[in-house]
Parts: sequence; C-alpha cells; structure tokens
Amino acid sequence: MRFKQDFFEQLAGFYSQVYPQAISNPHWLGWSDEAAALIGLDKPNDQLLMQLSANHAAEGATYYAQVYSGHQFGGYTSQLGDGRSIILGEAIGPDYAWDVALKGGGPTPYSRMGDGRAVMRSAVREFLVSESLAALNVPTSRALAVIGSDLPVWREGQETAAITVRLAKTHIRFGHFEYFSYTRKGDNSKLTQLVDFTIKQHFPHLSTDNAGYVQWFTEVVAATAKMVAHWQSVGFAHGVLNTDNMSILGDSFDFGPFSFLDTFKEDFVCNHSDHEGRYAFGQQPGVCFWNLQRLAQALTPLIASDDLVQALNQYQPHLVDHYLLLMSNKLGLPVFELASDQSHDTAKTQQQQDLKLVDQFTALLEANQLDYTNSLRRFGELDLTSQHISLRDDMVDLAKFDQWFEAYQQRVGKVDDMVNWQQARNAANPKYILRNYLAQEAIIAIEENGDNSKLVQLHQLLRQPFAEQPEMASFAKRPPDWGQGLIMSCSS
Ligand code: AMP
Ligand code: MG
Repeated sequence: MRFKQDFFEQLAGFYSQVYPQAISNPHWLGWSDEAAALIGLDKPNDQLLMQLSANHAAEGATYYAQVYSGHQFGGYTSQLGDGRSIILGEAIGPDYAWDVALKGGGPTPYSRMGDGRAVMRSAVREFLVSESLAALNVPTSRALAVIGSDLPVWREGQETAAITVRLAKTHIRFGHFEYFSYTRKGDNSKLTQLVDFTIKQHFPHLSTDNAGYVQWFTEVVAATAKMVAHWQSVGFAHGVLNTDNMSILGDSFDFGPFSFLDTFKEDFVCNHSDHEGRYAFGQQPGVCFWNLQRLAQALTPLIASDDLVQALNQYQPHLVDHYLLLMSNKLGLPVFELASDQSHDTAKTQQQQDLKLVDQFTALLEANQLDYTNSLRRFGELDLTSQHISLRDDMVDLAKFDQWFEAYQQRVGKVDDMVNWQQARNAANPKYILRNYLAQEAIIAIEENGDNSKLVQLHQLLRQPFAEQPEMASFAKRPPDWGQGLIMSCSS
C-alpha cells in the first residue's frame, strides 16, 4: 500500500491520532481481489495480514479517528466520531486514492462506552455486503478483507473480534458538516475548510467559491438520490440511515443490520432497534431526503437558503428519473429519456405512466407475497410470443395480473430480437443476492467450526450475481422457514 495523507495533513483538528490495537491470532476470513485492485494490491500475504490486523505498523500510515456528529433516529447527538474505525490514510490506486480503515481496530477517543471492536458476524456481513453491492453496480464503499481472530469480545454473550478492512473514497459524512457547523461558535472557518477540502479532493471540477458551493450541494443531492434509487431497485434496506452513516459522495456506507428483501414488502424493517419503522425499506427515499435537509441546515452559514432549497427541489425528479431508468431496464420497458424532440409534457406523462406500471408490479408482488429478486429474474425467460411468463403461475388473483400484463405488453411493444431482449433482462436482474440466511449460514460455520469455506463460496458467488452459475442454483432459493425476515440486532 502506498499512502498519501491529505486528510491528515490538511485537516488538523478534524481527527485524533490513535494507534489501533492488535487482534490476536489473525487469519484471513475473506479477501476481495476486486477491492485489492482498486489500491494496486494483488494477492493477500503475511505481511499485509500483520499490518491489517494491527500487529505491525503499515509503512506510510498515520492512524487516526475522525470526529463528527449526526442525527440518530431523528435526534441530534452533538458528538460521535469513529468509535471503532481507524483510518491509515489514502492508499493510492490506479484511479483513485481510497481511505483504508480498520473497522474494529480498537478503542479511540470517540468510543464512549464501546470497546472499539467489531464482532466477527458483523465484520463478515459488512465485507459481504460491500462487495455484493459493488457487483450489483450500486455505488458503495468497499471491503478489502475481513480478518478473524481469537480475541474475545462481549456483547449479549462472548464472541470473537474481527476487523473489516474498509476502503472508501472518503469517510466524510453528512455528520462531519453538522459537527463543524454546530460547534463553530460563530466562526465559519472550520466548516469552510471542510467544504473546500471535500470539493478539491472529490469534486475537482468545481470551484471553491459561492457558485461552486451551490453546485457542490446540488451534486450531493443528485448522488444521494441516485444511491437510494439503486437501493430501491435491488431491494436493499440499509437499516440505520442516520446522518452519520451518509457518505457525502452518495456511496452506500456503514453497514449494520442491513438486509436485502426476500419477499417484497414496503414496510419491511431489518433493524431490531427500529421500533417505529423509521428506516423501513419503503421509507428510505424519504429518509434520505430528510437527511439532505439536515445537511442543508448545517450548510446555511455558507450557502444561501434559497440556493439550498432549489437544490433540494431536484431530489425528487432525480430519484424518479433514476429509479425509473433502473426499473425499466429490469422490466424491459423502453428506456425513458427526456428526448429533445419530445415535448417535455408528453415525456412527463409517459414517465408517470411508466412509474405507475412499476408501482403496480411491486404491489402485485407484495399482495402475493412473492420474492422480489426471483420474480424479476423471471423476466429473462419471458416469451412474448406465447405471452407466457412463469411469474403468472405464482399469482393468486390471475385477472389482476393479466390486466397488468396487458398494459405492460403494450408498453414494451414489439421485440425484434427476443434472445437479445432476454439477455438484457438477465444482465439487469441478479439471480443471486446476499440473502440474510446465506450470510447467517456462513457465519455459523465460522463460529462453530472455524470454517470459512462457506463465506468464501458465498463471496465468490456474489462476485457474479447476474451469471446463471447452475451448480449454485440452490443459493437463489427463497429462505427456509428459519431464515425468513431475519431481523438483525445493532449490537455489532
Ligand atoms: P453505527 O451504528 O455502527 O453507525 O455506530 C454509531 C456510533 O457508535 C459510531 O460513532 C461508532 O463509532 C460507535 N460505535 C459502534 N460500536 C462501537 C464499539 N463497539 N465501540 C466503540 N464505538 C462504537
Ligand atoms: Mg456509523
């Protein structure tokens, strides 16, 4: 790893330097070749293992924990910070310099009552979901590796500690801006410094004057809308959408009790602590907007509120445009574009109709308690000539499905090359997702037998979620009874 230290060198006062504490008897549980390539690494080796388990120092690393705050479940906490994640610096890769962080690397000044550790089950889940979302083309932070140990940690009972080696283009969160806005005591210099740093590092096409600030916030709004559109299209529920878990780049970030949908359910809640369903699957678009409003509020010392509102107003159209684009690809609807030769009003009407078609489709899935991923995958075997789709056989109210299907077919129109059309559906609808029960089986094998082969197998599978992989077909099945609607705890 070859590091640069821009955050560390340019933002003194935005972090505490803290050395990670080693985990004992470290061993690789998982390793991502794709993530490794992002920072110019190839295969794992012993030296890296010792460095990433904090047994040896990594050359060029500085080791620090960032300070930030955030709105958690709607309430503001005035100081949070990296309580169990220690950043080594920015590792220079062929295209980008990625923050390398040891999540579970030991206590920091921001650990509050926590031990600074991550339990193996949560480290494994973060590793898997990061790499799985990336393979699904969802913008996300990455995981280079997950490292197991025999270090005991206490949660509800005794477990063992692990470290997820996280790569992120940045660890700057909405909560960073909130912290330096609300603790500024009338002085905007720190907030300005942070915005300027963010723009120069990650939005280099923008200026750091007022016009640049407005454009920057507008781009943050767009990136956030795009991220959540991806989540809704792949059926991903993040679970803890606090502002401290929102990356300023619109990358999926800081995974805890996340879950992919098995059965489609708008009000699905995956977080055991979320009693009111604040972060339910269907609430995510609204909650991300709420989070953007909190970010906007924190930026009022630097950006005029009219400009902030104008940028926020673009959230909904961005969300709809992008969600529709993704869903159109999944269902095989003609891809909607605001073509220049079409009048804007006609285009908007078409967009509304397409959206209705998509909403009716998910409503059918919900009413019939159908699996989201598997139902969409059926579109790759749709035979438009005989008008048969196997999905129909799963429906209780056939008349209702037929009615929808007729409208759908009308919109799809004539397909000239059916094979090509089906291939395009299979390239947009994954066969395999990280179902909670699969992650759970991999975790149990490690817990009970120290056997990571299931984890490795699952990770391999999810690297190519759109490929048939016939020998792995059982991994595409709906969960067994014990694995349905698993709700994860936050005690990670
Ligand atoms: P999260 O819900 O994982 O986003 O964490 C919320 C806050 O609690 C962050 O500031 C974390 O760094 C901190 N935190 C979570 N778990 C621990 C832990 N085991 N030790 C110290 N801090 C923690
Ligand atoms: Mg967090």
